[in-house]
Amino acid sequence: MPQSTEVKTAKNLPLLAKYGFDEPRRQAFLLHLDLKPSDRSLVDILHDQVIAPAASRIIDDFYQYLLGIPQMRKYLPANVIPRLKRTQEEYLLSFGLEFNTPYYFEYRLRIGIAHERVGLTMDLYLAAYRQLTMLIISAIPASLHTRSEIHKSLINLILKIAALDSSLAMETYVAARIASMSESIADLQEQQQELTIEIQRDALTGTHSRRHVIEHLDHMIHSKQRQSDFKFCIAMLDLDHFKKVNDTYGHLVGDRLLHYIAATMQQSIRSIDLLGRYGGEEFIIIFPDTDIKTACLIAERVRNNVSANPYIIDEHSITSTISIGVSEYHHDDNNEKILQRADAALYKAKNSGRNCIKCQN
Ligand code: GH3
Ligand code: MG
Ligand code: MG
Repeated sequence: MPQSTEVKTAKNLPLLAKYGFDEPRRQAFLLHLDLKPSDRSLVDILHDQVIAPAASRIIDDFYQYLLGIPQMRKYLPANVIPRLKRTQEEYLLSFGLEFNTPYYFEYRLRIGIAHERVGLTMDLYLAAYRQLTMLIISAIPASLHTRSEIHKSLINLILKIAALDSSLAMETYVAARIASMSESIADLQEQQQELTIEIQRDALTGTHSRRHVIEHLDHMIHSKQRQSDFKFCIAMLDLDHFKKVNDTYGHLVGDRLLHYIAATMQQSIRSIDLLGRYGGEEFIIIFPDTDIKTACLIAERVRNNVSANPYIIDEHSITSTISIGVSEYHHDDNNEKILQRADAALYKAKNSGRNCIKCQN
């Protein structure tokens, strides 16, 4: 059944399928290299009279050459050389044999991937391949030199097969290199994303970082200030007498309380509002597209929820309060001006006995 044969073939020859070496492409490859079916009988002569009698000598000479290249030595530790030599001999004994079959192509495509995997650079690979080709040519026995026609044809065939094998290996070598570079790029992008999130978040409270809040404010003002209906408010929030908490319960409890209060605040605002830690025990909220009346209502909810939800730790119940200053965006404000107004409002709230909200519009 043609369908099951095809499936079987794709299974046994995964690289052919992956790199698109279907029958027409293979034929085109062979045509460009001038390899014809009739060359197959010449390949038999090449094996019987050149390669088979000289295979182990060729391999020994080849490894002597490789070990003479300083940069190559790191790929050739002494304990693996016998195995590599065997693989190389296996390759040599199949050099050009049945070059027009899918299996031949598959084997050569696999070689490129193997070389990329060990990190061999392309220049070293090509230099080594050129040397191997020369060694095969030099192995043509003197008895064939006198028959100049066959001698010439054999050299020509060796060069054509070498070109076929090396270009197939290059196909997968380059593709594998690109794939591993894409993987590295993807890893870097992931790391960059993680770093961005880290920069945007405050580690202790899980709210947005001061840097992110300021950047967000800046971006909002610059991108929208020309819109006639552009409005927003900000609130500065500061925990009242927080120093006392540290002094009474210790810094660690103070940290946990900060985290707890941040969570309470987050639960009290809308999903469009942005809560950040401005520093120490000070927080900031951006209320996008919101007038001062609404902003004060939400801020009041935050204040109320914080004071109504004490933090229970061990046998202690710690009630916290916050003071809040709210300010509204003015046309032609920059972020410094609006922050200054919110800060002034917060100062007023502190001076009015704390646990309250002041607005500065
Ligand atoms: P006020 O009502 O005037 O704001 O009084 P306060 O005690 O909150 O203000 P003050 O500025 O005198 O002290 C703020 C305290 O917040 C001092 C500092 O130890 C504490 N603090 C700031 N950042 C952290 C933190 O990350 N963890 C802990 N545990 N404490 C912090
Ligand atoms: Mg405080
Ligand atoms: Mg403070």
